[in-house]
Amino acid sequence: LEPKEEFEHSSLAVDVMRPRRSDPALAVLTQEGMTVGQVEALVESTHYSGFPVVVSQESQRLVGFVLRRDLLISIDNGRKRQEGVVSASQVVFTEHAPSLAADAPPPLRLRGIMDLSPFTVTDHTPMDITVDIFRKLGLRQCLVTHNGRLLGIITKKDILKHMAQIANRDPDSILFN
Ligand code: ADP
Repeated sequence: LEPKEEFEHSSLAVDVMRPRRSDPALAVLTQEGMTVGQVEALVESTHYSGFPVVVSQESQRLVGFVLRRDLLISIDNGRKRQEGVVSASQVVFTEHAPSLAADAPPPLRLRGIMDLSPFTVTDHTPMDITVDIFRKLGLRQCLVTHNGRLLGIITKKDILKHMAQIANRDPDSILFN
């Protein structure tokens, strides 16, 4: 991200984040309750580099963030090396082991591959501050919340696209010094 390009003061995180209103919902994993098969289906139906993990679909409370690559590797390893891990096994990101039915297959525990403190901003955070954080911390993505509920995600590419759009619309709105 070029340090000389600055945003109009009016851009907020909510203006840059995905999904847009017309887009499909944010693809998230729940910290428990999803099966290996469901997680694989979600990952394979998208190209996203990562997935937020939430407490539940209802709460949308953020627990962490997992990279697509780490998920696929761990599921593959689990299936190959962990006795009894099958498509119906529950994927668990919680600290404690889940309570499972007596006849349930063993769970696949993946807390270890989750980033427990992904960077977040609120929907009303001005984009100049968000861009500053991206630069200073070298972020690839950042999550957007409202009142503690996960709303969306902003990647470095989303920021670059937004900057390009502003430049096309109004070249004077970008300050070169
Ligand atoms: P990049 O922006 O570098 O291509 P991704 O492939 O992860 O990175 O994301 C592609 C687009 O999808 C971006 O606009 C991003 O905001 C959005 N996105 C990323 N992860 C998710 C997700 N889990 N659910 C919905 N949209 C996402």
